[in-house]
Amino acid sequence: MSACGNTTALDNELQGALQRGEMRLYYQPIVRIRGAEVIGVEALLRWENRRFGNVSPARFIPMAEHSGLILSLGEWVLEQACAQIARWRGEGWRRLSMSVNLSVRQLLAPGFESLVAKTLARHGLDKDDMPLVLEVTETAVIEDMEQVSEALFRLKRLGIAMHLDDFGTGYASLSYLHRLPVDALKIDQSFVRGLGSDPVAENLIRTLVALTDRLDLSLVAEGVETEQQRDMLRQLGCDVAQGYLFSRPAPAEEVQRLFSTLATRGG
Ligand code: C2E
Ligand code: CA
Ligand code: CA
Repeated sequence: MSACGNTTALDNELQGALQRGEMRLYYQPIVRIRGAEVIGVEALLRWENRRFGNVSPARFIPMAEHSGLILSLGEWVLEQACAQIARWRGEGWRRLSMSVNLSVRQLLAPGFESLVAKTLARHGLDKDDMPLVLEVTETAVIEDMEQVSEALFRLKRLGIAMHLDDFGTGYASLSYLHRLPVDALKIDQSFVRGLGSDPVAENLIRTLVALTDRLDLSLVAEGVETEQQRDMLRQLGCDVAQGYLFSRPAPAEEVQRLFSTLATRGG
């Protein structure tokens, strides 16, 4: 089958994937390095297809964005993630946050804000103690600054925190940063990977630490795989991290076990 034919076949499979129950949410811990305490999780979509097996979100999310299916997929993700964080909070993990990835297409869809408000209300997630974090990529924000920024302001009113994902890959946004209602930057994995070998990566992180300090934003490092990277991040002043070193994304029951063990492991 040609690459194009394969893509069409995959796209067809994607259309019915939710209905067939092929989608699952995994969760990856976000950790405070000092103390190795889990402070939140990021919800990551997993698709196991009857014909193609496991398909990476890097492959199917762009397809879903293109076809518009991202709207129903995203709604499902939001519902699952809110239900899960409400459950965890009910079980006593009261300070845990839940990060959900958003496509711009969702963000700019009419009625998105009211969909979010209804979902939060259904699960008793309250403005005064809001666990939901929404992640939008830096490049997505740059593409449509005006509209995206307005949509983000509306969501902020619900008490939701906004994190700018893959930061450092989009360049232009630095000058817009103070105009956007964001609470944190997530350093792109490529810079974390360069720690220890690439002085440019180290300098960029140093700059981001200074910048976020000045703008009163939080900073999260993604893709932390080694103890060396973790230690360098801590030395540079970045204390919140996520990556295989701490845990791979995993089903809720599995991730839940790390809530207490990571906290007692020390850092
Ligand atoms: P992202 O939001 O930047 O998510 C982080 C990605 O890095 C995840 O890939 C995660 O599994 C991976 N990762 C985490 N720690 C490490 C590490 O230490 N090393 C390496 N090499 N990778 C690590 P994943 O799950 O394959 O997701 C890829 C992208 O697909 C996400 O990137 C996000 O942009 C998108 N995505 C995933 N789930 C959703 C969703 O529910 N909605 C939307 N709109 N996009 C999603
Ligand atoms: Ca993300
Ligand atoms: Ca990212």
